[in-house]
Amino acid sequence: MRKVLVALFFSFLIVAVSQAAPGGAVRCGKLVDVRAGRLLENQLISFDADGTITSVAPAGSSLPSGTIDLAKATCLPGLIDVHTHITGDPSHSGYAGLGISVPRSAVTGAKNARLTLMAGFTTVRNVGAAGYSDVAVRDGINAGEIPGPRMFVSGPPLGITGGHCDDNLLPAEYHHVAEGVADGPWAARAKVREVIKYGADVIKICASGGVLSKGDQPGTPQYTLEEMTAIAEEAHKLGRKVAAHAHGTQSIKDAIRAGIDSIEHSSLIDDEGIALAKQHGTYLVFDIYNDDYILQMGEKAGMLPESIEKEKKIGRLQRENFRKAFKAGAKIAFGTDSGVYPHGDNAKQFGKMVEWGMKPIDAIQAATINAADLIGVKAGAIEAGNFADIIAVDGNPLENVPVLENVKFVLKGGAVARNDFAAK
Ligand SMILES: [Zn+2]
Repeated sequence: MRKVLVALFFSFLIVAVSQAAPGGAVRCGKLVDVRAGRLLENQLISFDADGTITSVAPAGSSLPSGTIDLAKATCLPGLIDVHTHITGDPSHSGYAGLGISVPRSAVTGAKNARLTLMAGFTTVRNVGAAGYSDVAVRDGINAGEIPGPRMFVSGPPLGITGGHCDDNLLPAEYHHVAEGVADGPWAARAKVREVIKYGADVIKICASGGVLSKGDQPGTPQYTLEEMTAIAEEAHKLGRKVAAHAHGTQSIKDAIRAGIDSIEHSSLIDDEGIALAKQHGTYLVFDIYNDDYILQMGEKAGMLPESIEKEKKIGRLQRENFRKAFKAGAKIAFGTDSGVYPHGDNAKQFGKMVEWGMKPIDAIQAATINAADLIGVKAGAIEAGNFADIIAVDGNPLENVPVLENVKFVLKGGAVARNDFAAK
């Protein structure tokens, strides 16, 4: 009996030891301290077997065995994009999109999840997908079946009949209604409950008209204040945040007043809207890279001619209002609308943000600590207790932000997804 107990005791000890065993460590020649906006030299980041950072400290003269040595590289926290459409590609625009099934878009999502992770984005918030294709991609990643970022997903976006989040390409005899359509406060509440039932981490709604939809205008309100108030209340009660697509001046203000957590696009925001966002602590997300792509490549990708005309009117205004909102001190999170342009090019937006008034560190903070705060994820800074999400590049992104377009090392939750520094 005693022998059995002793054996049991030792087996418990082994389990306890293996659980506490370090998962590994990374040595960084330089490390961007994203909160302070400065470079730290020669840091050792240790993480446990669950992929959580346990310590960040100056590296000693000898490294623990198994340490990944990035002595010549600059490390940053894994990047975060709060506005992706992983299950869509630019070629799915306009009428071509009607030929793509929900299962097929899940396969597209698996392809794009990998591209996004390899580009250094270890977390994304996916706001709008056909069916629950984004739920499937998220679950496949979490099960370890496919590579991809940590995903927070919305499923189908909520919207009014005939609005940006409906599908207006077919005539009436097809009786086609997008699955997120819900008119009126109670129908909208019921839709919030429905998307949560099928796996949504976040609620996406269309507050105003949009660019890539048929028959509406970006500046026109769609959901009413009353509807959005009901949606925000229902979502918050069920522990979910709400992201509102809103280009239009009035819709932006209605969404903020309704208690929505982030305004997507924010294109035609005015001074009052900026002041309201600051007052309510609402995040603004400006996807200011994809304008270039739509104007240069949109027609070839099959986007509707009216969409390209709308982008011509709104693109520059959005960039000017981004600069204004940033100068005024509004909270800004990094979101790109990937899928409108090819996935994996997400980091091209950093250069645009700097071109339009930010310092590199401001743009990096938008894609790290701010984005993590908006999503509510333990990431966005290389600190004990956060996921061991670490990327590395050559050069200094605080001086030359486009180096982030060439990420060479990606660690997600303590697992190496990419290491070009190891390749000889
Ligand atoms: Zn979008």
